Amino acid sequence: MAELIDSLVQALGQENVLTDPYDLDRYSGDALSPVRAFGAEDSFARLADVVARPGSTADVSAVLRLANEQSIPVIPFGAGTGVMGGTVPAKGGIVLDLQRLNKVLAINPTDMTAEVEAGVVLEHLENELRPHGLMPGHDPYSVPIATVAGTISTNGVGYRAGSHGPMGDQVVALEVVLPGGEVLNTRAVPNQSSGPSLKQLFIGSEGVFGVITNATVRVFRLPEAHVLRAVAFNSFDQGFNAAAEMFALGVRPTLVDLTEEDDGVLFHLVFEGFKEGVQANESRALAVCAQFGGRSLGPEPAAAYWEERHQSAENYKATALGKPRSVRWSRWRGRRGFDYLHLGLPISQVLEYRRKCDEIMAKEGVRCVEYAIWSRPELFSMLITSNSGVTADSRERLGTTVDQVLRLAQDMGGVMEYCHGVGVKLNHLLAREMGVGQEVVRTIKQALDPNDIMNPGKLGL
Ligand SMILES: Cc1cc2nc3c(=O)[nH]c(=O)nc-3n(C[C@H](O)[C@H](O)[C@H](O)COP(=O)(O)OP(=O)(O)OC[C@H]3O[C@@H](n4cnc5c(N)ncnc54)[C@H](O)[C@@H]3O)c2cc1C
Repeated sequence: MAELIDSLVQALGQENVLTDPYDLDRYSGDALSPVRAFGAEDSFARLADVVARPGSTADVSAVLRLANEQSIPVIPFGAGTGVMGGTVPAKGGIVLDLQRLNKVLAINPTDMTAEVEAGVVLEHLENELRPHGLMPGHDPYSVPIATVAGTISTNGVGYRAGSHGPMGDQVVALEVVLPGGEVLNTRAVPNQSSGPSLKQLFIGSEGVFGVITNATVRVFRLPEAHVLRAVAFNSFDQGFNAAAEMFALGVRPTLVDLTEEDDGVLFHLVFEGFKEGVQANESRALAVCAQFGGRSLGPEPAAAYWEERHQSAENYKATALGKPRSVRWSRWRGRRGFDYLHLGLPISQVLEYRRKCDEIMAKEGVRCVEYAIWSRPELFSMLITSNSGVTADSRERLGTTVDQVLRLAQDMGGVMEYCHGVGVKLNHLLAREMGVGQEVVRTIKQALDPNDIMNPGKLGL
């Protein structure tokens, strides 16, 4: 390892190679804490051996060549805001911090694209686009903290996914450094029929096939009209059926967020775009809500919701981002166990799935404090918590429940996670979901990365 560190220093300069135990600790992982890892806690046992901070694609190539020669793991690190342990150095090695790749290289209002380096934080991209009358299509809670390549590698979902789709849909072209150091570039056109689209291989792949160094992403005009509406329902089922009807009709809200908490069921709708389109979508959406028993509450309750959507990330930035693991993990210490689950299911299965989950949770002494659909009727979330205090037993039962409800989603034709990736937390369930697909992934991985240097131990590999 000492020899590798010397070579990294020669390639990147002393200031861009970190070996201090304080740095190794804070770079070893993301926003997943052992409290939510449920069975994957052992992955936290190793720390990074070194942190490398490349400043260019050529630097990334140089690091991967060195690592490949010595079969040393490389873990790409965007901002470490992932919630599944994707950046945990499960087998030690080099954490490759991409935050020096932080330039917006080009904004093209005719092509409606922006070309950015991997480590550009979404908020920075937003700020650069605004003077051009443009904005990105991906708007997660984590806009102030997450990077472009991190969100591509987890295929994240945000507040504008109803009309613009997940982060993967924003990707027009990628530059990727492959494990041997070669640089792959795809072409910046929205579609191709000249061979398979290789950019897809790197979307949602959590850095196991290579390092994204540059991305061309779609951008959108700042909306001419922006309308928010809140609608109350007597039951989740009514709101859900209204959302399903809207999508079946072709009504495309920028966002639908249907949430049931203790105090009722509330639907937040956002419509954006050119004004006639917004008016048409809004009036038909409200008519559909009324048809299913919805009571319009006007724009006010939705305005605060929209204004505060990035607040949790601002709090994370102030209290946890870049801090040692002990600080990040202490935020949950002594608190009742909880987990948030984000499952994808066919529309026809969502309500039945919810009923079956309620039965499982009732048996295990676990309570769901929030049910939601976000951006599409297929994308269903639950915030679950243990009923019985802060004991080892209640934690174990929460973990068992999480496993059962994730397996149930798979058994009902769905996926166990729709936006945060697999990381270390869901590793044990991926082969079950992918079946033969897992062997295809393994074969591609062996062909591209025979020394298994790229983020080893992830994607069930
Ligand atoms: C407060 C808060 C709110 C959040 N809200 C949302 C939300 O609304 N929607 C949502 O989808 N997620 C959300 N997240 C989760 C997180 O922000 C996303 O998963 C985000 O996509 C991770 O971005 P990152 O830059 O921090 O990536 P990291 O956490 O650094 O990395 C994520 C994965 O991508 C890989 N990776 C990173 N960079 C590269 C690269 N250049 N090349 C190849 N692989 C790479 C890493 O190895 C890892 O496997 C939230 C997290 C927090 C803490």
